[in-house]
Amino acid sequence: MMVKRFFGYSLVALALLLFVILIRAYMHQPDIHETNTERALVLDERKAIENLSRSIQFETISHPDYEKFDYDEFQSFLSWLEEEYFHIFKNLEKKYLGETLLLKWKGKDSSLDPILLTGHYDVVPVRDDADSIWQENPFSGKIDNEYVWGRGALDDKSGVIAILEAVDYLLTQDFVPNKTIYLSFGHDEEIGGRRGAGKVAEFLINEGVELEWTLDEGSFLLKDIIPGVDKPVAVINVAEKREFNHRGYW
Ligand SMILES: [Zn+2]
Repeated sequence: MMVKRFFGYSLVALALLLFVILIRAYMHQPDIHETNTERALVLDERKAIENLSRSIQFETISHPDYEKFDYDEFQSFLSWLEEEYFHIFKNLEKKYLGETLLLKWKGKDSSLDPILLTGHYDVVPVRDDADSIWQENPFSGKIDNEYVWGRGALDDKSGVIAILEAVDYLLTQDFVPNKTIYLSFGHDEEIGGRRGAGKVAEFLINEGVELEWTLDEGSFLLKDIIPGVDKPVAVINVAEKREFNHRGYW
């Protein structure tokens, strides 16, 4: 009898909880942040597009076997970055963890916790017959009237180049962030990031850095995924499962 009553109460509590959650979700309005429109952005779109195209032409392919990486290609990509974004490399502190690049943009206020923006420049392999089944060569970086073509155009050289173009632009405007910003560009994300993101995490832990938040390439923009929501929905991944050991990340 007691057990039955307990389950009864639990069911009522659960129904109430569900009711409150649904009502709150329904009533929720996103925070409206004012955008500072005082200073117009004058971006060099052509440069950004050409740099994305150029970045795709480096065949920085991840392989499950680290021995099989073509590290020359990764090094060429990094040398090109240093040349093309010399402004960034002049103003930010750089550190290489293998072929993964970590940059530190010092903020004005050292009492604030830093943030980390990440991207990765390795790409998944293409099939041997890619030339005959792809519309364009996967490493051509071809620019047409609508698209930049190739491996990494979406995942994730676009992310890397977008971050670098934004920082490059802000440096020309003499912008200094309030809080320190770390930028990390991994070379082995597609196979788990053990020698890239893993090493960056280890390094930051050893430096005693506590991040306020970190932002990676994120997930997908999905349409028609939630009933009743007709706008595209950006899925926020708040965690990713990983093994931890005493040294931290991996
Ligand atoms: Zn990715």
